[in-house]
Amino acid sequence: MKFGTKVIHAGYNPHDDKKSGSVMPPIYQTSTYIQKAPGDHLGYEYARTQNPTRHVLQANLAALEGAKHGVCFGSGMAAVDAVIKLLNPGDEIISTNDLYGGSYRTFRRIFEKYGLKFHFIDLNDASNINEYLNANTKMVWVETPTNPMLNIVDIEAIAKIAHDYNSDIKVVVDNTFATPYLQQPMSLGADIVVHSATKYLGGHSDVIHGTAICNDDAIAEALEFIQNGTGAVPGPQDCFLVIRGIKTLKIRMEQHCKNGEAIARFLKDHSKVDKVHWPGFESHKNHEVAKKQMRHFGGMVSFSMKNDSLEAGVKLLSNTHYFLLAESLGGVESLIGHPATMTHASIPKEEREKTGVTDSLIRLSVGIEDIDDLIADLDKALSMV
Ligand SMILES: *Cc1c(COP(=O)(O)O)cnc(C)c1O
Repeated sequence: MKFGTKVIHAGYNPHDDKKSGSVMPPIYQTSTYIQKAPGDHLGYEYARTQNPTRHVLQANLAALEGAKHGVCFGSGMAAVDAVIKLLNPGDEIISTNDLYGGSYRTFRRIFEKYGLKFHFIDLNDASNINEYLNANTKMVWVETPTNPMLNIVDIEAIAKIAHDYNSDIKVVVDNTFATPYLQQPMSLGADIVVHSATKYLGGHSDVIHGTAICNDDAIAEALEFIQNGTGAVPGPQDCFLVIRGIKTLKIRMEQHCKNGEAIARFLKDHSKVDKVHWPGFESHKNHEVAKKQMRHFGGMVSFSMKNDSLEAGVKLLSNTHYFLLAESLGGVESLIGHPATMTHASIPKEEREKTGVTDSLIRLSVGIEDIDDLIADLDKALSMV
């Protein structure tokens, strides 16, 4: 199956629903399953452990990433949490320094307590990891494109350096920003892919959900053990919403990318705008890597204004109409956000400014509305700054 067919068909065959042939997978809203005699059942015992609706989604997500196994969780953070729980005290993790604020927070404030050691470094140049690799290194955590600076990390180069050093090191890619339509980390050498399906996969700003995907049977078994053991499972209704959202992933992403490009180019030419961050510009420092590993450049754009004050930022953020001021990203509607006070508030000011998240940085999740309306909206708000 090609990608546009997989999103619709992978993981579920209506002929398997013997009762009705339901074209959409049923929502198995149950906590438990009947047994004929102790241990004599259809493979389903308790819904934390197994749920047929969840299984459809897990199989679909694995197929989209070109992998064997998908393990779903109640949020993206629960998926991140499960992946980190594969490690043991004393293990070291090398991570991108401009990563999702929630991941940074859980690494620093929760997992450091349990004896894990994180190195947050600039991965714009893959060879930077060499300095941090040692016998305790068990994981490299990559986000690309990064949030909110839209930096690009060369997944293939990172995986090669890490695996040449020690083939047991797990290379994890948080593929939330790109989605499997634009980028498939497993094919570039990653061991595990994580997603906040809350974002583009769900795509309609109506569900919180996460997933971890891998090829290796032992990693899958360990993740399933954690999924059941710690219990951060998604409900069947939420799995259904993600299944439904994914059906239009390909066409949504195509429109997000088109609109994202148009907005990036509009901003670049605007007299009030200073820097525009979007990996599609030839001037972007890893544009060539983006071209190599991504199908297109995505719908996320960030920028700073010539008036580099907090007031200017607030003025812009309060005066858009279609760009809704809200956290999150990846839904059909355009969102505008302020990383310094919203998504990245948990990262200390000095730390975030080092990576470019200044007080005036604005992040856009460009939706799939008509582009003329989006540009007019931004133009009007910019004129008020
Ligand atoms: C949102 C997000 C997460 C966390 O996902 P939730 O579903 O909000 O728990 C992790 N990584 C990235 C890149 C995200 O954007």
